[in-house]
Amino acid sequence: MSRTFDVVVIGGGPGGYIAAIRASQHGLTVACIDEWKNRDDSHAFGGTCLNAGCIPSKALLESSELFHKAQHEFSAHGISTSEIKLDLARMQDRKAGIVKQLTGGIGALFKANKVEGLVGHGRLLAGRKVEFTSADGKVEVIEAKNIILAGGSTPIELKVAPFNGTTILDSWGALDIAEVPGTLGVVGAGVIGLELGSVWNRLGAKVTVLEAMDEFLFMADKELAKAAQRQFKKQKLDIKLGAKVTAAKAGKKGVTVSYEDKSGAQELVVDRLVVAVGRKPNSQGLFGDDAGIQVDQRGFIIVDDECRTGVAGVYAIGDCVRGPMLAHKASEEGVMAADLIAGEIAEVNYKVIPSVIYTSPEIAWVGQTEEQVKASGKTYKTGSFPFAASGRAKAMEQTAGMVKIISSSEDDEVLGVHIMGPMAGELISEAVLAMEFTASTEDIQRTIHAHPSLAEAIHEAALSVDNKALNALNK
Ligand code: FAD
Ligand code: NAD
Repeated sequence: MSRTFDVVVIGGGPGGYIAAIRASQHGLTVACIDEWKNRDDSHAFGGTCLNAGCIPSKALLESSELFHKAQHEFSAHGISTSEIKLDLARMQDRKAGIVKQLTGGIGALFKANKVEGLVGHGRLLAGRKVEFTSADGKVEVIEAKNIILAGGSTPIELKVAPFNGTTILDSWGALDIAEVPGTLGVVGAGVIGLELGSVWNRLGAKVTVLEAMDEFLFMADKELAKAAQRQFKKQKLDIKLGAKVTAAKAGKKGVTVSYEDKSGAQELVVDRLVVAVGRKPNSQGLFGDDAGIQVDQRGFIIVDDECRTGVAGVYAIGDCVRGPMLAHKASEEGVMAADLIAGEIAEVNYKVIPSVIYTSPEIAWVGQTEEQVKASGKTYKTGSFPFAASGRAKAMEQTAGMVKIISSSEDDEVLGVHIMGPMAGELISEAVLAMEFTASTEDIQRTIHAHPSLAEAIHEAALSVDNKALNALNK
């Protein structure tokens, strides 16, 4: 007799494992199937985020920033050091240790929540059945009242620069480099390109980033994107815009990258090349042809606002469906799907999903950019506050950047908050909460912020919307 569960989740990343835990919290019987394989062939739950994405990249960003600070910023605090040396093997071990602890933690959470973790491949069949092929090749058909597809995504490979695992790398490979390359090329000045480019730049590589678009950080508010570009230039991150890669050839001396820009054909020779030009949904192999699941032209599973596919009882969440490819978006969709399965009312507020780029300074935003508000035809006001005028930022020696707030002229509702500066990724949460509650700038103006804190910059930016900033000149 086949095993039956109330919910079977296929995929154990931040979308899938969170959905499984929430479903079990509702008293449902749950299995979560995941096939992630590490380089040593070991299995770990956690998907891209924990194994090869958010967590290892943030571990290296933190370590490399400390290395850079010790070399270049300690002296400003009156701290002198003898020669600062890099022990990259230890840095990589620390990263691996954090990943291991967190992925291992999911096993413990599954046990505590009575989620059955199944290691292997899952495939949705017709009639709410799931074919499970275990790691040792045994095939079992499981019955499920509800199924959540959470297959995630994988890096896009460029035909002109195929990955070879040694010198032409994807983002996972770029996290595992064992020796600081003398020169590193990065294709794509998106989130991964900037974060991982920063890591290796801080550790001593000469980094050149080739971006096909003419505009830098097209998805961010233009004013912030421009300010960020200036910061990266100061950090000697060489970002070439309008650079279209036409070929990459690996040879004995590294990788020869051919690209075209405004001035014509160009060539760049680097020790290693990282290709970070986006990710594609991992929907192949996730469901059979007769399962009834529809995908769009780019392979994303088609779902409605509640993550329902066209098949009754089958949901899809996270990177394999429309919307930003972010771990917190995947998790929130997982929670929503599990709550809906349990008969509760649930929704994801897609208008207030924060974005964070963990460079130095960090860049974070929520809601609309000024360009988007302008294009919508709404009348609006803006206010901003520079971290150069923040006592806390000065004490931290981190005064680059600002907070910018955009709100409606009609009813003062906050429409977008854009931050570049120290801990922007933490600060943005206040803005997310404000927007979740449809706050006005006046609400933020009347909220007491601790002094001295970085969050005061949000308070002052809100005051500046109405020309009432107290610690900076108004417009
Ligand atoms: P995934 O995390 O990709 O998990 C999917 C899982 O399903 C995988 O384990 C996969 O093996 C498994 N699977 C797929 N198909 C099957 C099948 N048929 N059977 C069994 N198992 C299957 N996002 C952020 O929000 N913040 C960050 O700081 C951040 N940093 C990142 C840094 C890097 C370098 C990268 C690459 C990504 C980063 N992301 C970040 C993006 C984030 O990792 C993804 O948005 C997130 O992991 C998506 O979650 P998911 O659960 O949809 O998919
Ligand atoms: P991305 O979409 O952020 O950036 C890709 C960049 O590559 C774009 O700027 C694009 O114009 C450029 N590009 C595309 N084709 C090119 C080509 N042929 N030559 C040169 N440039 C080209 O994608 P990514 O950086 O690969 O990241 C993938 C996903 O992972 C993103 O959706 C992101 O949300 C997520 N992620 C998030 C975080 C975070 O939240 N901090 C960190 C890393 C990754």
